[in-house]
Amino acid sequence: MTAHFDLIIRGGIAVLPWGEVAADIGVRHGRIAAIGTPPAATATEIVNAQGLHVLPGLIDPHVHLRDPGDAAVESIPTGTRGAVLGGLTAVFDMPNTTPSITDTQRLAWKRDYVQSVAWCDMGLYVGGTKTNIDDLAALEVEPGVCAIKIFAGSSTGDLMVEDDVNLERIMRAGKRRIAYHSEDEYRLQARKPMYKSGDPYRCHAEWRDVECAFLGTRRLMALARATGRPAHILHVSTQEELEYLADYRDIATTEMLVNHLTQVGPDCYDRLGGFGVMNPPIRDQRHMDAAWAAVADGRVDTIGSDHAPHAHAAKLKPWPEVPAGLTGVQTLVPIMLDHVNAGRLSLARMVDLMSAGPARVYGALNKGRLVAGYDADFTLVDLKATRTITNDWIAAPCGWTPFDGMSVTGWPIATIVRGHVVMRDDEVLGAPSGRIVRFA
Ligand SMILES: [Zn+2]
Repeated sequence: MTAHFDLIIRGGIAVLPWGEVAADIGVRHGRIAAIGTPPAATATEIVNAQGLHVLPGLIDPHVHLRDPGDAAVESIPTGTRGAVLGGLTAVFDMPNTTPSITDTQRLAWKRDYVQSVAWCDMGLYVGGTKTNIDDLAALEVEPGVCAIKIFAGSSTGDLMVEDDVNLERIMRAGKRRIAYHSEDEYRLQARKPMYKSGDPYRCHAEWRDVECAFLGTRRLMALARATGRPAHILHVSTQEELEYLADYRDIATTEMLVNHLTQVGPDCYDRLGGFGVMNPPIRDQRHMDAAWAAVADGRVDTIGSDHAPHAHAAKLKPWPEVPAGLTGVQTLVPIMLDHVNAGRLSLARMVDLMSAGPARVYGALNKGRLVAGYDADFTLVDLKATRTITNDWIAAPCGWTPFDGMSVTGWPIATIVRGHVVMRDDEVLGAPSGRIVRFA
């Protein structure tokens, strides 16, 4: 009897946890059924992966899809469309929407909504606030929740917990790893009067300086150590934090943003104006060098885009009125592949950072490895394809990317989510079939 599969990915180089292997991959019922299929095997659908690398589905663990919010800027349908066009099989979405996701009712609404409109799978953050601390232990184990998110320094939205007393209460409420935006709010506020409207955009990195980030992370690590509560420090942006966090590997994991590996100040502010303004800010070469060193020696666990769209007109405002945040979900994989081609990291390390890493840090079940029995999520990439990233390729309704005009080598050719081919050759296929990610 010949083996029959729902789908066979034929002729590609599979990137397994133990190395690259030329193997056809068989899928049944949305799961990986065989790595290496019999020559006579048949399938309902065959994907030709000749000349391509077959990666386990890549995950962006840090996006703001702004839904509910302003659909003219971004939404879950358009944001996940951008994700699959960009080669991602799952995204983890932040809670600072309008209204924010901070209770069981709003979470349940979002869970149902996602599963009717999303193109990729999704994990959902729940916002921790000063008023929902008693609910967090229950909220963090709700289906689909990747983590509690704490804004310890001000950013977009109305979620903020800046003081040690409330931060410690939150750490003592629950068990799972908490994700933190770490910038010291007191220092941010104290430095604000040093600047005025219309100052150069590069002042963004001077106001939110190295000490703002480092102080925030030192305070969080002291509390995490005292309470024993695991922490994930989002978007670490300074050499000082990276060196400090090396002594907290037992309790803290680290996220790096693609922007901090790709863009450098102050040039980016002179070139991009408001379209270079994000939190924590893009910093100078010293910090970019430290970021790459931390990628190389394993101190970084995950890489995210911090996709945080704003209207084009809003990004033209003078500093500091210009809102912080850049689009990025669609450009994350192409830019990381370009870094692989430039020799800045290996393809294996990229997969570790963008698939295995997020699965390990957040405890995502059946994702993060190309192995039998796991979800049939794949990102097929052509390491040799050269393309130019342009604003008109961007699916987000706001319609811009800070990487407009950038030529990259390495491109996602197909995105497969639990056996559904949802993108092939820059075209979105079928219907939205995204599901909630399951977490341990
Ligand atoms: Zn963010």
